[in-house]
Amino acid sequence: MKLHDVTLVLRPDMPTWPGEHPPRVEPLRRIARGDGANVSVLTIGDHTGTHVDPPLHFIDGADGVDALPADALVGPCQVLGYEGDDHISQSWLEGAGVAPGIERIVFRTRNSARWIDPDAGFDKDFLALDETAARWLVQRGIRLVGSDYLSIEPFGSGKLGHPVHVALLRAGVVIVEGLDLHDVKPGPYEIVCAPLPIRGGTGSPARVFLIER
Ligand SMILES: [Zn+2]
Repeated sequence: MKLHDVTLVLRPDMPTWPGEHPPRVEPLRRIARGDGANVSVLTIGDHTGTHVDPPLHFIDGADGVDALPADALVGPCQVLGYEGDDHISQSWLEGAGVAPGIERIVFRTRNSARWIDPDAGFDKDFLALDETAARWLVQRGIRLVGSDYLSIEPFGSGKLGHPVHVALLRAGVVIVEGLDLHDVKPGPYEIVCAPLPIRGGTGSPARVFLIER
């Protein structure tokens, strides 16, 4: 068994979505200052680094991150390798060799190479899913879909009403974003995706492992 930790390391100089500040870790107690322990206060956006989107992220009144079904977050997962330069579409997916019955799919694209360079800033030209791909995944009964950049949907989709997010979240598909797959080959894995159960949370950073057997 080989364990792949595909979580981005949280650090103050990491790339974040425009307008969202990176994580801040401030000392609350320090042994060096005479305190009994080292304790910090963490301030972090709930869509920072590797994270999940619950339905509430784009649908007011819908379930928050604490209501995500745990059995969707853990289980068999297929990593699909994508070599194209356009956003991922239904027509590509139809020929991609998606395993019958698979309920969790993660896309490894050229985006993952961005994570090798610790100084790389936010890149709005990342690859994502188009609307036809989102609908196809919903029709196939996919329960979790993962992307290797900070959104599952092309940059600038706000003016269209974020149709990819809305289609997936309306169907109860868990979206995982910000996966670092640069060291992971396409194929079958088991995924363990563990967001924090923040009550009514609009998102949560997650620790994500891919288990190769
Ligand atoms: Zn997100």
